Amino acid sequence: MVTDAGGRSVTGVVATFEDGTTTTFSADVVVVACGAVNSAALLLRSATDAHPEGLANSSGVVGRYYMRHNNVAVMAVSVEPNPTRFQKTLAFNDWYLGADDWDYPLGGVQMLGKSDDAMIHAEAPRWAGKLSPDLPFEVIAHHAVDFWLCGEDLPRPENRVTVDKDLRVHLALDEDNNVEGVRRLRHKLDGMLSHLGMQHHRLLDHSLYLHKSMPVGATAHQAGTVRFGTDPASSALDPFCKAHDLDNLYVVDTSFFPSIGAVNPSLTAIANALRVGDHLVERLR
Ligand SMILES: Cc1cc2nc3c(=O)[nH]c(=O)nc-3n(C[C@H](O)[C@H](O)[C@H](O)COP(=O)(O)OP(=O)(O)OC[C@H]3O[C@@H](n4cnc5c(N)ncnc54)[C@H](O)[C@@H]3O)c2cc1C
Repeated sequence: MVTDAGGRSVTGVVATFEDGTTTTFSADVVVVACGAVNSAALLLRSATDAHPEGLANSSGVVGRYYMRHNNVAVMAVSVEPNPTRFQKTLAFNDWYLGADDWDYPLGGVQMLGKSDDAMIHAEAPRWAGKLSPDLPFEVIAHHAVDFWLCGEDLPRPENRVTVDKDLRVHLALDEDNNVEGVRRLRHKLDGMLSHLGMQHHRLLDHSLYLHKSMPVGATAHQAGTVRFGTDPASSALDPFCKAHDLDNLYVVDTSFFPSIGAVNPSLTAIANALRVGDHLVERLR
């Protein structure tokens, strides 16, 4: 993005096409919605003399406070076959805010899309020693019940997106950020399995309860890198998601989140985009 000489307005958005040619688009109002990693990268790459640390970044927060979720995917094996096609229709938040033995939030439990034999086959090396060698993947898949545990990641300035001198994007992330809640959530679910028809030693001759934590590359629920707030010293955007530092620049993807909670982010992003859209309609009248 390029700005006017004073740096208060975005005057152009430069697009580079695959053949190397470029075109500059201009508009009265520019709305960025590239996702939390790429929106931050776009602003950081758009540094100018007036915005030496990146566009809209006088606070220094752009790229920082990256959040995702502390997610764990779990596959249990049911005694009965699980023929469901649309498994991802149930969630429960009984321990979202805490539990009888823990005063802090644990997070939410939801169903995942149904595992099939190809997916289980692909994950098999990770679960070596836990899968029964005489049990075909199709049989396991037929009895698989898949859960997704979602715990809250906390906003920390050192968890951040940066851009190096060659404009490549880097992501720094402390993967042990507030993981105790989701660890306890997993134990809660574990303790429920026998009540859910997933007892050990019934279908299989050993327990089968497989899990997979999401590593740094699992950026699906990225958020927080262009946070909003009322204080220009600690946020990049105002409450309508307009950059504090510029008059015509908005960011409306999940970048604006100051916290991420422990639920999937899309509906919040959509609701906020509609809210900001109403504001823009008023502004452009
Ligand atoms: C596998 C997977 C499963 C998910 N499941 C769920 C779910 O069940 N529920 C849920 O709520 N969320 C889910 N999410 C998360 C959800 O997809 C994201 O939270 C949501 O899409 C974020 O919206 P966004 O507008 O911030 O960014 P995005 O939807 O990522 O949109 C950003 C857009 O900007 C484009 N873009 C990027 N850089 C540039 C650039 N420089 N110039 C122009 N365009 C650019 C991208 O191509 C993309 O189209 C899932 C994500 C993944 C990957």
